[in-house]
Amino acid sequence: MAYQSINPNDGKLLKSFEHLSNAQLDQALATAESCFQRWKNKTYGERALILNKAADLLRAHGDDFARLETLEMGKRITEARGEVAFSADILAYYAQHAEAFLAPVQLQPKTGEAHVESSPMGVLFCVEPWNFPYYQLARVAGPQLMAGNVLVVKHAGCVPQCAIAFERLLLDAGLPVGAYTNLLISYEQSDRVIDDPRIQGVALTGSVAAGRSVAARAGQNLKKSTLELGGSDAFIVLDDADLDLAVPWAVWGRMYNGGQTCCAAKRFIVLDSVADEFLARFKTALGALKAGDPMDERTTHGPLSTEGALLQLLAQVDAAVKGGAKLLMGGQRIARPGSFMQTTILTDIQPGNPAFRDEFFGPVVSFYRVKTEDEAVALANDSDFGLGGSVWTRDEARGRRIASRIHTGMVFINNIDWADAALPFGGIKHSGHGRELGPMGIQEFVNKKLVRSGQVAAPV
Ligand code: NAP
Repeated sequence: MAYQSINPNDGKLLKSFEHLSNAQLDQALATAESCFQRWKNKTYGERALILNKAADLLRAHGDDFARLETLEMGKRITEARGEVAFSADILAYYAQHAEAFLAPVQLQPKTGEAHVESSPMGVLFCVEPWNFPYYQLARVAGPQLMAGNVLVVKHAGCVPQCAIAFERLLLDAGLPVGAYTNLLISYEQSDRVIDDPRIQGVALTGSVAAGRSVAARAGQNLKKSTLELGGSDAFIVLDDADLDLAVPWAVWGRMYNGGQTCCAAKRFIVLDSVADEFLARFKTALGALKAGDPMDERTTHGPLSTEGALLQLLAQVDAAVKGGAKLLMGGQRIARPGSFMQTTILTDIQPGNPAFRDEFFGPVVSFYRVKTEDEAVALANDSDFGLGGSVWTRDEARGRRIASRIHTGMVFINNIDWADAALPFGGIKHSGHGRELGPMGIQEFVNKKLVRSGQVAAPV
């Protein structure tokens, strides 16, 4: 069965869905293309009315949306409510600001008048991951619909009910049929969509492997793509850090969303003089988390999204230990129903150990001790990824100097990588290219057309 909704808290199958037939897929693309011909001519105000309505509906029914994702992918209910509210904020943010972000930009040529105007490109194909089942969709739907594009979307195989609920939300808000279409399709059908001449651009958030495959296909078709891929963000603790601040944020940074966040803190790089104290306090705090039903507000440690995700993480920890890393705590599945992983700390990870370069998508800490600030920066930059990172210090100027030396798309000083509708999100290297959110996110799939006018003498 292609799309399966399974509760990772107990392993029970909730619902399953067949793939679309190719004929249904072709019909969906035709509907999207004909919708674009009308949607592109709507005013920003007309589009904003619908997106604001969607944001209102999302807030009004927030608990229903939140419970559905907790059921399908195990996000703790309090976090799920937060994600739903944030998704509504993103829709409302673009409803408010799109027109200003895409306003014509006046230029100053030597003679005459010139400006650049922005126009939508057409039908976009989005491929999205399960870890933020609504936020990831809002991140593309908010800006792209406001820009006048229309979307066909392949969501992850384990969250079909959230995918359908988000499509329903937009239709209930008054979005015309074809402006946002959820596609329950296979990888082969995804290739077919990318090849289709009606598709003008491709946006993917997901793993490096998915990015390679989808972007290669888009490249063969000479279509633009944006990629939001994995990360292995450094959490750098300097010798003057306030540990009362750094330790709780280290726990949050690693454990938010069960550790399944692209921009989670994954590599903890700590200066020698504070390393013992930091590690002892971090270990105690992680050990105090209580595994339980993610639907229960008192639970502080939920399951991973799927059994497959758990097995992959266990195998990665095994490989790390075989490669010479030490297991300071955890490393096993939790003895209870569902796909729960113990909070885990790995130390003594040397270059050459697969754990040195891989992304751990779950509650696994990679801990590194360094002697100097320069060593911390060098280690932070010794990664195939380049998504985010954070620096912890009482000296903000020192934090800024280090932030400038870190090769990633985002760096945070004395706070952790968290997103805001107004801030651009994205990375470099194997973390992808392009940005979502903020003023930049809406510029990715618009034609920037130069228009120049003015009297120029006839050529002689
Ligand atoms: P994944 O396996 O790559 O899945 C992501 C999406 O891509 C799913 O819809 C998946 O469909 C689809 N997909 C995978 N391979 C494909 C192919 N060859 N053709 C078409 N579609 C394909 O990612 P994941 O492991 O579930 O998600 C976690 C990854 O996403 C992590 O690496 C995380 O860091 C990254 N992520 C990045 C960001 C960011 O903004 N940078 C945000 C969130 C997550 P199926 O589910 O049907 O396989």
